[in-house]
Amino acid sequence: MAGRLIYLDHNATTPVDPRVLAAMLPYFTDDFGNAASRQHRPGRLAAEAVEHARRRVAAALGADPREIVWTSGATEANNLAIQGVAASAVYARRRTIVTVRTEHRAVLDPCAAMARAGYRVLYQPVDRGGRLDLERLVRELDDDTLLVSAMWANNETGVLHPIAEIGRLCKERGILFHTDATQAFGREPIDVERAGIDLLSLSGHKIHGPKGVGALYVRRKGPRVRCEPLLHGGGHERGLRSGTLNVPGIVGLGQASEIAVAHLHDERRRLAALRHRLEHELLAALAGASVNGVRDHRLANTLNLSIPGVEAEALMARMPDLAVSSSAACSSATRLPSYVLRAMGVGDAQIRGSLRFSLGRTTSAEEIERAIAILLDACAGTVETVAPRSSRRAAPTADGRSTPPSAAE
Ligand code: PMP
Repeated sequence: MAGRLIYLDHNATTPVDPRVLAAMLPYFTDDFGNAASRQHRPGRLAAEAVEHARRRVAAALGADPREIVWTSGATEANNLAIQGVAASAVYARRRTIVTVRTEHRAVLDPCAAMARAGYRVLYQPVDRGGRLDLERLVRELDDDTLLVSAMWANNETGVLHPIAEIGRLCKERGILFHTDATQAFGREPIDVERAGIDLLSLSGHKIHGPKGVGALYVRRKGPRVRCEPLLHGGGHERGLRSGTLNVPGIVGLGQASEIAVAHLHDERRRLAALRHRLEHELLAALAGASVNGVRDHRLANTLNLSIPGVEAEALMARMPDLAVSSSAACSSATRLPSYVLRAMGVGDAQIRGSLRFSLGRTTSAEEIERAIAILLDACAGTVETVAPRSSRRAAPTADGRSTPPSAAE
């Protein structure tokens, strides 16, 4: 019988917060207007809701509302940032894009498209901890560099790049700086001014908002960033992104970002403590297990763990009540070993034995205890466990039941 699911895959997606859903619902039915139809009340109501959400998302970034462009998610925002600036005649002289090997496919693939279009794309390596070498990065930057694209936080390991330092290096050289902040938005404090960011991508569904909605921040002053649209049509979003706006989704993203930012510091502290407990217990119990990614520069919610002697996929099949990820959910369709861990120099066997745990708003201390017990049960017999298993029985659940035994052994 299936037990209560423990969801530790918040870097893949998150459940919509009930407050977000409540804010969205009227815009599907009673307030269904088209935000571009300002001649009548339903249209104006929709437009006001969209502008309210725009102010909320802008405030979360320290930006001006006019700098926010709604998109269908971070994938589109990344494409618009990279391909949009390259298409601008203002930057036509510059033909090099610098990015990092551990970026999400939603950055790497538009960069590859630019390479096919004749741009020079330089992929920066990372060290064993997933960190960028800033001195090397500086050496790559020159008068030909159009754009640097470096993610704020990595989706597989949680590793944080030194965004403000990269921003400063770019600014000093008149180079545009784009950051894919999909995993960091709402989890780490973001100030586009302080960090010297010109373009920033974010998504609703990683912050307990809806799927299929996101935004691109495009700097308007100091300098004004020139970006050409990918979609041509009705000229919505100041001509940068045509298409009737997803009003309920945008309202949801605005509400979700306000909630996330209001509780950011408390939530970060809470999740760091839960992640510490999970990491500490698993490292202590599983001989030879190791953390992928530098431990003191990570998102508070993420743990990427390699367990020797296990196949993550097989292990997950033995833990039906624990939702974790064996590599980035977005790329697991390809069934290729994680290129992120590979770029960090992690060996193939360790990659095959790696699990990503990502915690979120709904994660409780009790769930973490149960997750530890489920994982150690599933590993028993496969992995050398350090502590006697009898001391690690599943904690009783709120409804008095214990974790059901897994199909291990
Ligand atoms: N960038 C990163 C770092 C991500 O984690 C994701 C989501 N997996 C994306 C981009 C794509 O976001 P979306 O699903 O909104 O297109």
